[in-house]
Amino acid sequence: MIERYDIAVIGAGMAGASIAAELAPHARVLLLEAEDQPGYHTTGRSAAFWEVCYGGPEVVPLTLASGPYLRELGALHTRGALYVARDQDEAAVAAFRERFDGTGANLRMVGRAELEQRVAGLRPEWTHAIEEPSCADIDVAALHQHYLALGRRGGVVLRSSTRLEAAEREGDGWRLRFARGEEALAGVLVNAAGAWADDVAALAGVRKLAIAPLRRTVVQLRTDPPSPVDLPLVLDIGGAFYFKPEQDRLWLSPHDETPSAPCDAAPEELDVALAIHRFEQVVDWRVTAVERKWAGLRNFAPDRLPVYGYDPRVEGFFWFAGQGGFGIQTAPAAARLGAQLLLGQERDGMTQALEPALYSPARFG
Ligand SMILES: Cc1cc2nc3c(=O)[nH]c(=O)nc-3n(C[C@H](O)[C@H](O)[C@H](O)COP(=O)(O)OP(=O)(O)OC[C@H]3O[C@@H](n4cnc5c(N)ncnc54)[C@H](O)[C@@H]3O)c2cc1C
Repeated sequence: MIERYDIAVIGAGMAGASIAAELAPHARVLLLEAEDQPGYHTTGRSAAFWEVCYGGPEVVPLTLASGPYLRELGALHTRGALYVARDQDEAAVAAFRERFDGTGANLRMVGRAELEQRVAGLRPEWTHAIEEPSCADIDVAALHQHYLALGRRGGVVLRSSTRLEAAEREGDGWRLRFARGEEALAGVLVNAAGAWADDVAALAGVRKLAIAPLRRTVVQLRTDPPSPVDLPLVLDIGGAFYFKPEQDRLWLSPHDETPSAPCDAAPEELDVALAIHRFEQVVDWRVTAVERKWAGLRNFAPDRLPVYGYDPRVEGFFWFAGQGGFGIQTAPAAARLGAQLLLGQERDGMTQALEPALYSPARFG
């Protein structure tokens, strides 16, 4: 007999796992994952920080609203962030401060003397910084496992190694077809497919929203001197790099954004070299080994804001996509809001300060 669900969530990365868990008390939920391991794609490849300004002013409310949930879970470990600048970056510093003015981000200017104490070996041209002191490391695996476990306890049926291959409207719901000819019925289809969000829309006959996968690279370095464990997250005000310690190693990104087809992303040697070159312009440390390198796809709608809500044209199709570079740090509030929008529920303490219209797929007309 064919299985019936109220809701089928496509993709069991952070987006799918979190919204499935939030929906579980209210509905019979199927969580479908193409890979044998949920989290294999973008979720498993993040740089694992919660930074209030990351993603821009319209993402700040989602990040701030998620903070208490993450803290209560023990998933945040405060590190602080420094957006470092040179004298010629004055305009960028002013623009940054203006952009985040009134958003709730707590920013402070730091001069060269303090900067030297915080980042030993900083090259002299880096003269000042904007500090965001509440920036924290996130335990991504723990958060993802938390949501998978919460879902499981709430009755979510997780099917790994099962790719959605077709979805057709049938009655007031969907008939879903998977590889090997298996099928299921669901009332609502939730698109949490990350880099494949447009592909999943297309296979359900829904207009694509031009959600673009952009590759981002991270390298793990051994350095001399070793990176101090209490080093803040150091980001370029001009967006050309960031780095942070991971125990006594360093995680470094050249902040690349290379358009890619949805795929199992891998780092390019050129991006690794670029990352190291840029790093060497910031501190006088020596890179002694590249221990690990990886890449993942960050997925952006054309206005770089996430997309949460029912498709305005096709009934029963709910977007939960475009989580960009902030899908981990915004996961709790995004999932709560997503579930409330899907179920037609009132907003609660976590989501009351959010403006759902900012994230609605209807904004694309
Ligand atoms: C290098 C890097 C650094 C980052 N750093 C941070 C950070 O510090 N902080 C932060 O908050 N965010 C960060 N991000 C962003 C964050 O990782 C993403 O926003 C988040 O992981 C997106 O989760 P997702 O569930 O949408 O995507 P994914 O984790 O990719 O999950 C989507 C899933 O859908 C599945 N799927 C696709 N099509 C189908 C189908 N047809 N049937 C079944 N399943 C399907 C895929 O297999 C995949 O597992 C970073 C990203 C990268 C790449």
